[in-house]
Amino acid sequence: MKNIEKIIEVLRAQLRYHSDRYYNDDAPEIEDYEYDMMMRELKKLEEEYPQFDAPDSPTKKVGGKADNSFDSVVHTVRMESLQDAFSKDEIRDFENRVTEIVKAPNFVVEPKIDGLSVSLEYRNGVFVRGSTRGDGNIGEDVSGNLRVIHNIPLKLNEPIPFIEVRGEVYMPKKSFGKIVDRQQINGEKPFKNPRNAAAGSLRQKDSSVTATRGLDIFIFNIQQIEGKELTSHKESLDYLKTLGFNTVPFYKKVSNIEDALTEIDRIGEERGNLEFDIDGAVVKVDDFSQRELLGSTSKFPKWAVAFKYPPEEKQTKLIDIEIAVGRTGVLTPTAILESVHLAGTTVSRATLHNQDFIREKGIQIGDIVTVRKAGDIIPEILCVNEHNSDSVYEFPTHCPSCNELVVKENDEAAIRCINPECPAQLLRNLIHYCSRDAMDIEGLGPAIIETFVDNGFISNIADIYNLDYDKIASLDGFKETSANNIKTSVEKSKSNDLGKLIFALGIRHIGAKAGKQLSDHFRTMANIINASVEDILKIEGFGQIMAESVVEYFSKESAKELIDKIRNYGVNLCSTTEINDDRFAGMTFVLTGTLPTLKRNEASKIIESFGGKTSSSVSKKTTFVLAGEEAGSKLDKANSLGITIISEEEFMGMIK
Ligand code: NAD
Repeated sequence: MKNIEKIIEVLRAQLRYHSDRYYNDDAPEIEDYEYDMMMRELKKLEEEYPQFDAPDSPTKKVGGKADNSFDSVVHTVRMESLQDAFSKDEIRDFENRVTEIVKAPNFVVEPKIDGLSVSLEYRNGVFVRGSTRGDGNIGEDVSGNLRVIHNIPLKLNEPIPFIEVRGEVYMPKKSFGKIVDRQQINGEKPFKNPRNAAAGSLRQKDSSVTATRGLDIFIFNIQQIEGKELTSHKESLDYLKTLGFNTVPFYKKVSNIEDALTEIDRIGEERGNLEFDIDGAVVKVDDFSQRELLGSTSKFPKWAVAFKYPPEEKQTKLIDIEIAVGRTGVLTPTAILESVHLAGTTVSRATLHNQDFIREKGIQIGDIVTVRKAGDIIPEILCVNEHNSDSVYEFPTHCPSCNELVVKENDEAAIRCINPECPAQLLRNLIHYCSRDAMDIEGLGPAIIETFVDNGFISNIADIYNLDYDKIASLDGFKETSANNIKTSVEKSKSNDLGKLIFALGIRHIGAKAGKQLSDHFRTMANIINASVEDILKIEGFGQIMAESVVEYFSKESAKELIDKIRNYGVNLCSTTEINDDRFAGMTFVLTGTLPTLKRNEASKIIESFGGKTSSSVSKKTTFVLAGEEAGSKLDKANSLGITIISEEEFMGMIK
């Protein structure tokens, strides 16, 4: 008995945790099916052991809680959830429960849209308020965000005194694909599935963000109505259409449960071909007076049931493992499979997530594996059924795109290529490089960068400084003025502070603040390149991981080559921040010859920032001659006047 109580407690805690991730963070960690199975187990135990039942159990609660950054909306008509069924027999059981109370019910079967539930209120045919379901009783006022969804009419075709409808906001698969692409380019964590993407997009603080997410809606119920008598669900859906609502598609009225099951199968077969995700089909008693007799539990109406399609599973052969380098540098393995038909689509690829996943499942090329496709778009490998060889799969040690050594950081499952010049990451690196907190190159936004990369104008960061503006002006949609504007901002960015450049390089763990700190502390790019982990650790707030990341980045030849190239294009490599240190006050420097790392103007800037002066000719007033290779007559003159000659290395020592 003690054990049962413990199991119940654990299940409740797990369900609460996952419910919080799903409803409140819009970031689930497990599949819906796993969640449903846990919920099922808990329900069964609570029924078997009523002594452990609790009023606050997840089995009795609807949804998440309203976020207090939105105004609350109290739902006059509770926004209920649905009871679920996972087999045809459970649908037949539902019919038995219904026919115990009402006679010969008709049913309406409709797809269960996988989005999030909202209520829309209209007075005299005008949209006045819209809200989320929240916990069913109190939701969040998201009117502003709902207004920007083009399929939500702001004015109905009839000025009906009052109507509250319920619908499902969803993200079409196409919009989802585009958004995930964009998130990956920007190095953001991508949404897991369209449902979470829809929820995250609708609960934005800024409606203009929601407007870019391509959300849509299907209306499936009238919650309240004044000024119109309706007697059945089918009739109300037809009426909603005439008012101008986009109602749930393919709804069908049937007169018995076997026909309802046929409809469920039909919708299930269409699942893979639809433009939106569905996670089931809903069977509803059609007649409103019968619904009233049936009533509700604390969580769901007794007149409806949701059939949840089981995630389809099939066995197939894993032919190969393909490694792609994402735009964030992460190496992502994909299984290439012998094609199988699964949940309405042909599947020939499945995600393998990362190296740990392959190891944990013991996956090898040639294996027979079980592939599963739940509601989600991307199929995955559930388990290995049969090994066909003994050779353990070795994850690549070098980037398949640029052949540089890849790295795995302790706290991450991902293996990454960190080569800044890796072509696979080019786009993302360029977008970051030009962004506001980085080099702030106005006019070079993501879409334009993408166009330039596609046209072969940019194939590495340094190319930004070598653009052919005549060619740009001749591109479709570009004119001379816009090409000139880009040129102006590229030129302007050359004199940015070194801190912005350091951040722009996209060194892992080095944000804008750390970039500035490095620049303020070391003053020149050369000093940063030569700094050791110990040197960097002296900066306040820098830990081992950050320091190692900087050293590792600059240890790569490709990074040094990049810096050389941009130096030659005239990009400033020094700190431009004023410093309260006038150690060179009263001193005059003369520069001669070619210095190993610094350009003359960079050295002059450093001297001036420490309060010193530079002069072009050597005289008795000269304090130091900073000499590089092939120094000429100035060196002889300095020698004859007995003036101290210093190398770049000594100079760097003086400003440390
Ligand atoms: P539900 O999604 O199973 O069913 C109720 C909802 O279906 C309603 O709120 C309504 O918005 C929606 N719906 C869509 N089309 C409909 C239609 N035609 N008619 C009526 N309703 C329709 O129940 P729920 O309480 O919203 O959510 C529970 C589900 O959420 C679970 O079954 C689980 O799959 C998922 N979940 C997953 C996790 C996770 O971690 N993966 C966590 C919590 C919940």
